[in-house]
Amino acid sequence: MTQADKRPGCGHDAPSIALAEALQRIRSTLEPMGGRHRVALRDALGKVLAEPIIATAAVPAHNNAAMDGYALRHTDADCECLYVVGSAFAGHPYTERPLERGQCVRIMTGGVVPAGADTVVMQERAQAEGDTVQITEWPQAGENVRFAGEDLRAGDPVLPAGRRVTAADLGLIASIGQAEVTVTRALRVAFFSTGDELRSLGQPLGSGDLYDSNRYTLYGMLSDLGVSLLDLGVVPDDPAALKAALDEGAREADVIISSGGVSVGEADYMVDLLQAGGDAHFWSVAMKPGRPLTFGRYGKAWYFGLPGNPVSVMATFVQVVTPALRWLAGEIDKPARRFWVRCQTPLRKRPGRQEFQRGRLIAQADGTLSVESVGKQGSGILRSMSEADCFIVLPADSESVAAGAMVVVEPF
Ligand code: AMP
Ligand code: MG
Repeated sequence: MTQADKRPGCGHDAPSIALAEALQRIRSTLEPMGGRHRVALRDALGKVLAEPIIATAAVPAHNNAAMDGYALRHTDADCECLYVVGSAFAGHPYTERPLERGQCVRIMTGGVVPAGADTVVMQERAQAEGDTVQITEWPQAGENVRFAGEDLRAGDPVLPAGRRVTAADLGLIASIGQAEVTVTRALRVAFFSTGDELRSLGQPLGSGDLYDSNRYTLYGMLSDLGVSLLDLGVVPDDPAALKAALDEGAREADVIISSGGVSVGEADYMVDLLQAGGDAHFWSVAMKPGRPLTFGRYGKAWYFGLPGNPVSVMATFVQVVTPALRWLAGEIDKPARRFWVRCQTPLRKRPGRQEFQRGRLIAQADGTLSVESVGKQGSGILRSMSEADCFIVLPADSESVAAGAMVVVEPF
């Protein structure tokens, strides 16, 4: 880190680095915070597994029927009809002697395939008469049987450590009978907005004032990451007040996030405070929206200083803070989901910065996806984020895009 990296001097004169470079620098600095605890399965939703989940038993535990019908021996194809010797319903297995030649068992979906049987014929292909049944179309060997261990075998790895638990994962872990799991400690994140012009909800607006919206978007995005939150409110552009907020954040949290106050001149406060109490890297990141970014350490906490403009806050949070918080929580790397689609609207762009324009995906009649711009792309127009469901990711060197061209999108 050169001196020039640390001292902004004049904010927008700070050396400009690519987003990928900023991410790589952050990545090489951060390490998972550590700490783990055992929780009841449902409480693991959205948390990160600290240990792999291993199947202790096969799922399903027994061969069972995938259809209502008759369980039979596939080698009995030459029998004129089969004798129905009993029944196997889900939860009520047939426990008599193994099936002998010419015998079958009435079976319902989920019923255990009885000993001796290897195949289930669906009832639509069988004609019952009293206690005999005639098979109108002989099934393939093993047809309509869900085999023991088909989903998981005992000893199979089910989920790796570092996995963020989804709804499907909850069910999968329940299916192997595990009632508790070990997850990493949830990060504690303190956040505040800076600006003399900002008012909190419920306060009257004076001339030139505006309501603080960044703490609301941050609240929403942080909540999606399952972190525990400490809202430090609105802090005026005053070094003593900013220091007090940073001190409280560092005492109480693992990570401090602030928005605003990183423009030309203003950034001096934050960078000076960080350098006095930790370590600061001020970068001009070649992305749009969101150019100035401060990353560092204050006391024992990691610090992210985001730009003030509401769209810049969201874009830098998604592109920079989200991966960083995932790493800190011990989550395994998950590359952004990006893919090419046709863009229906022209996009204005000047070469220089990687852009994250706001777009809306459209399902075409032929089933393919395309994207359109949501319109005005100013970094103060928060409605563009609300109306969008994806970023249109334009490389730094690209120029304006003509309607009909292919572009990369990243859904959110
Ligand atoms: P700054 O980076 O502090 O110069 O802020 C850039 C722009 O974003 C200014 O127009 C601010 O008024 C606006 N802004 C800063 N913080 C917030 C906030 N918390 N909510 C809404 N707008 C903000
Ligand atoms: Mg400001």
